Amino acid sequence: MKKKVISLMLCACMAMAAVGCGGKKFDNPDKGEDLIMATNAYFEPYEYYEGDAVTGIDVEIAQAIADKLGLTLKVEDMEFDSIIAAVNSGKAHIGVAGMTVTEDRLKNVDFSDPYTTATQVIIVQEGSEITGGDDLVGKKIGVQLGTTGDLFAAEIEDVQLEQYNKGMDAVQALAGGMIDAVIIDNEPAKQFVSKAEGLQILDEEFAVEEYAIAVAKGNEELLDDINKALDAIIADGTVKGIVDKYITAE
Ligand code: GLN
Repeated sequence: MKKKVISLMLCACMAMAAVGCGGKKFDNPDKGEDLIMATNAYFEPYEYYEGDAVTGIDVEIAQAIADKLGLTLKVEDMEFDSIIAAVNSGKAHIGVAGMTVTEDRLKNVDFSDPYTTATQVIIVQEGSEITGGDDLVGKKIGVQLGTTGDLFAAEIEDVQLEQYNKGMDAVQALAGGMIDAVIIDNEPAKQFVSKAEGLQILDEEFAVEEYAIAVAKGNEELLDDINKALDAIIADGTVKGIVDKYITAE
């Protein structure tokens, strides 16, 4: 009996310690109860500017999560390369940026359940001698800095890697004949190619990836809230509806 009381007290103490140490996870006195999303808004159809507002699949999914949690979504646009640091420093609560779950990133952040899949594709000029991944050896390849496309390209033999802050900048360099190919995510690739002249996407898909939401490492309470909200909007078809609105099936 005594033992039970002590262990109960221990539990209570631990629970109090957890609250004391974690604080309120959305505590943001200046702005009220915001859910701050870090993103890089040059990645259509996931996040992009329409006038002054950032819109797209990721923004709508984050908005639906914020609605479920009773929070106000705020979008912070930054370099893709800065998103993980922003999430870990508490500058943002979540990183939603067509971000692929990778082993390396998992060392620095935690990821929600995946909300969609994507592939890496190769963009070349129409009529290019490059017809597949094997032809990329020794070529000048453009990528968006810090992305999985960047990592894949870096592994190609004798590659001349050209890193850009925005995927569209890489695609424009390709259209201008400054580089030989671009490796990037499939849906933005379609958007970028449609806005440039004389480019094509090769059929071969480089890698299949899963996109998920990044949260600060070890913030289990926040991760749990995000996952519960996300799982609910996946289950009720909200996520599919959002994706279908932006991506037309082939
Ligand atoms: N999915 C890629 C990655 O996570 C690219 C993401 C992006 O450029 N926004 O690295």
